[in-house]
Amino acid sequence: MSTRPSPRNVLGTTKSADTSDPGPVSSNRGSGVRRITSPSPLSPPSDTLAAALTFLEGVASRRMCREELRSWIDRNLVHPGYMARPWRIQEPLFGALPNDKHCSAFLPEVPPTDETAAILVRTRARVVGHLRGLIQSPVDDRFLSAAIFAGRVRRVVVGEEMQWVPRPRSHDILSDIVTSLFVSDILGRREFYAQNLCVCDTCGRVRFEIEPPQRNKCFFC
Ligand SMILES: [Zn+2]
Repeated sequence: MSTRPSPRNVLGTTKSADTSDPGPVSSNRGSGVRRITSPSPLSPPSDTLAAALTFLEGVASRRMCREELRSWIDRNLVHPGYMARPWRIQEPLFGALPNDKHCSAFLPEVPPTDETAAILVRTRARVVGHLRGLIQSPVDDRFLSAAIFAGRVRRVVVGEEMQWVPRPRSHDILSDIVTSLFVSDILGRREFYAQNLCVCDTCGRVRFEIEPPQRNKCFFC
């Protein structure tokens, strides 16, 4: 039984920068000789991945505010046609996070008093917790199937290809909306995440690195 509190409207108006143009996938086709230096650079993130990372970074750096959130949703979800504009944003503020063993480390000891900030940090904690499951052993990727079964991602034909795209509903909680951006990207390239995803155990920073020596630590922790 859900124990979600009453929804909180945290939308406002503003704008922010977001550069997320997809670029060509880099190629490192070799000459038959194995190169052990300078692995190929990671390809630029997809639009959905860039948007999701922008959200996480914005919350972590406290740049994300109510107005910024509204702008981020418009720019990355409404304008591309992934979802209708929500008239309010909600996220459970009380009770254990659904995936608590993965998420609790990323919540501040003292919850923010500002309601929007409280929603944002809990959203980030839950999303990072999901991603953290991908580098656990054994892998916990149940959030992928949950998003598929809930219809928050769909397969569509783009050109001659089938692609996963986010399809959250405007009444979904914010963490499910943000997660749908990651899920659509992950389903399109599981190997990329399997090899390059890093999630810091301490601060929750999400990054991608070629042959990372430690996937659960960042440069700062
Ligand atoms: Zn860290």
